[in-house]
Amino acid sequence: MSKSIRTALVLTGWVGTVGVLLTAAGGCAHNRAPNAALAEQIISEPHGGKHALQLLKEGNERFLAGDANSPSTDPETIRIAAVDGQKPFVSILTCADSRVPVERVFDRGFGEIFVVRVAGNVTAQHETGSVEFSLAALKAPLLVVMGHTKCGAIKAAIAGQPVTPNIDSFLASIQPAVQRVKAAQPNLTGEALEEAVTQENVRQTLRELYATSPLIREKVASGAVEVAIAEIDITTGKVTWLDNVPKP
Ligand SMILES: [Zn+2]
Repeated sequence: MSKSIRTALVLTGWVGTVGVLLTAAGGCAHNRAPNAALAEQIISEPHGGKHALQLLKEGNERFLAGDANSPSTDPETIRIAAVDGQKPFVSILTCADSRVPVERVFDRGFGEIFVVRVAGNVTAQHETGSVEFSLAALKAPLLVVMGHTKCGAIKAAIAGQPVTPNIDSFLASIQPAVQRVKAAQPNLTGEALEEAVTQENVRQTLRELYATSPLIREKVASGAVEVAIAEIDITTGKVTWLDNVPKP
């Protein structure tokens, strides 16, 4: 474990727990799966997060072109990854929607993408902790927050009607984004409003990750982890990378 990661873990009081998790994630070093070798190469690069982002862009292009080659899905890679431990080169926080099959739209395989999914791609303690684990223990060099078109959680948050207490809890997390968009662009309605809220909600989730996690903040501020935000069009699977990425 590097000194900076250890320092960050000490700051969050996680050193013992993550030590155990690191051991579980590690294992023997022989017979590296191709995907593990790729991830180790990316993690060791000075700008590994940029390389990881490039892989996602290329994978989405293959998917859209009908040229997906499903890397790291052969039985031997799957078996070795299970023995050796996961080495994801990216951590993605996205919606639970079944029309967002993350590995397929980026044409990646087993052990390559650490995915945290929750309706409305919001974040609270469990999601933030999961992201922290992927960046600190697994050393993923890229963090992506991704929303999607036609998101039911976004529509429900805009509608503003109570559903159940548990559903209301994640709708409440989206609500500030709804209010900010309505205040800034009061004439927006329908799909245009949903689209604007979806993108604002992605940025809001990233800001929330910074606000609630010193570990994530430190990793992004130091340049150890790159950040990207995105929206996927569920009618095509096309991922659009958004600008105005919030900084820690
Ligand atoms: Zn959704």
